Amino acid sequence: MSSKSKFVLFFFFFLLVLIYSLFSPYSQIFGKVTHTINTDENVIYLTFDDGPGTETNAILNILKEKNVKATFFVVGERIYKDPETLIRIAQEGHTMGIHSMSHPYLYKNNYYELSETKKLIEELTNTEVKFFRPPYGFRTWQTISTAKSLGLETVTWSSFPLDYIKEKNDILNYVISNLGKGQIICLHDGPTNRQNTLFALSELIDQSRANGYQFEKLK
Ligand SMILES: [Zn+2]
Repeated sequence: MSSKSKFVLFFFFFLLVLIYSLFSPYSQIFGKVTHTINTDENVIYLTFDDGPGTETNAILNILKEKNVKATFFVVGERIYKDPETLIRIAQEGHTMGIHSMSHPYLYKNNYYELSETKKLIEELTNTEVKFFRPPYGFRTWQTISTAKSLGLETVTWSSFPLDYIKEKNDILNYVISNLGKGQIICLHDGPTNRQNTLFALSELIDQSRANGYQFEKLK
């Protein structure tokens, strides 16, 4: 092999590792992330990103009816538009986590994006925030270390049904056929039109329970 093709090969290998480190929900290269909860029990974790949004209240209604507690990773700028819904999430006993202030790729302004959102949630709900999920799952070493310095655990996911582009039945089938102990399921309650998620939710809860799984919130 010529030294030029060796270089090209090395370059693509490096690029693959970099992309994996920046985006994979499982990568620990830039710091510790939680993608699955370590447990022997049949427990799964519903998480909702990008709210408070159009579907949040309807989702809260279903969770209440089904007696399920979940975790909401909320966006600071959307809290300003709809503080009442954030307060409702807290009052109904769900966990709130940080999903940044403006939903950017977090390669800069990490401290502002995380600390301001933390302050906002804590002031409005009088609840300590302990979890952070990076937008798009994208993080650098600095993102995770900033989260850590604010006392936040970085959480990704182990079940990602692409609910923002899939139909109801695809979301449902994906989640049910991939069920596993301690799994963190990533869904979206905003910012706009997440109706397929909403339509799938009741059956998703019923079928998971029928498969022997219980729901828990992050804590
Ligand atoms: Zn998001």
